[in-house]
Amino acid sequence: MTIENEALRSEIARSLVPDLTLEGFGSCPGKHLHGTRNGARDFQVKLDGAPTASCFHGSCIAFVEELNHELRRRIAIAESDGRKERPTLGSVAPEPRARHRAKRPAFDPAKLSKFAARCPHKITQEWLLERSPMGLMDEQGTETSELFLSELFVQGERMLVFTSQTSQGDFLYESGRGNFRLGKDPGVLPVPSALPTGSSEGVWFLSNPVTGSWLPNPNKKLPDGSEALGRRHGACITAWRHLVLESDDANESDWLACLVKLPVKIVAIYTSGGRSVHALVRLDAASKSHWDAMRDTLAHVVCALGADPAAMTAVRLSRLPGALRHGSRGKDGRLRTYPEPRMQRLLWLNPLATDTPIIESV
Ligand SMILES: [Zn+2]
Repeated sequence: MTIENEALRSEIARSLVPDLTLEGFGSCPGKHLHGTRNGARDFQVKLDGAPTASCFHGSCIAFVEELNHELRRRIAIAESDGRKERPTLGSVAPEPRARHRAKRPAFDPAKLSKFAARCPHKITQEWLLERSPMGLMDEQGTETSELFLSELFVQGERMLVFTSQTSQGDFLYESGRGNFRLGKDPGVLPVPSALPTGSSEGVWFLSNPVTGSWLPNPNKKLPDGSEALGRRHGACITAWRHLVLESDDANESDWLACLVKLPVKIVAIYTSGGRSVHALVRLDAASKSHWDAMRDTLAHVVCALGADPAAMTAVRLSRLPGALRHGSRGKDGRLRTYPEPRMQRLLWLNPLATDTPIIESV
């Protein structure tokens, strides 16, 4: 960015955020909607590349999005005025540019340690289990799976459960109605069934409710050009409710300390039965684009702290608490069975979670 551009962009940003500092911090236009304490560095405007304002709080997203729209519009107009005076290059193609991607900062272990060190307690799996707002048993099983699903989904909502990660859903849980075993192909009627107690690599659920029906997937074309049918793609989703935070890289004690300090609605925390601990965050977005915008805001903060950006999609599979995992697949693709099956253990359940960090609410 040239100095002239930078000055022009700052001036435009300041016309929208009057108290903007030189570092780009200022007052969030949706501050009145923040559910938790305001910090001086919550709201930031970045002016290089595609100018973007972001806020640490999620509740103000509509105001932040509107500001971004206006900021980009004004900057585009101002900068295109200047461009008219440049000499033309003749009939050449426009300059190629990298595809726009939302910024996902890389994992910074030092940043995570520093953030975790400010947690006043050492957070362990037992610490969470003892303080879970909904009481949880030490001995867990399919009752735990049922409790988890019934507390997080409302009457009539349908959830897919998987014993194979690559299937289109092996079981369906319908809140208030029960569980069903699903057929592998369209047209096969489901049959009532208990939830699975476990599977060779564990059991998963799709993190958002779905129709339960086979629907054409516009992003997956068959050789004849028609859309493949599926039960687990974006068009199947009926509520844009959850996002999964998981980390394969962060060390567990730092990661748990980080989770309890985040000002987001963590409704559940559970183990993978392997090395990692997952958190389910309630976003309650109004649409796919709203979900994506909230995800981008959150990713900006949590990816540097170790959250896996690949897990942050609305059709993510996550570990179903209360199910047993009998093994895992090595890098060579071969399944190794554990000496003892491992429980995908539910550590925390709070259907009424707010933006107040867990550490401030216990
Ligand atoms: Zn805000």
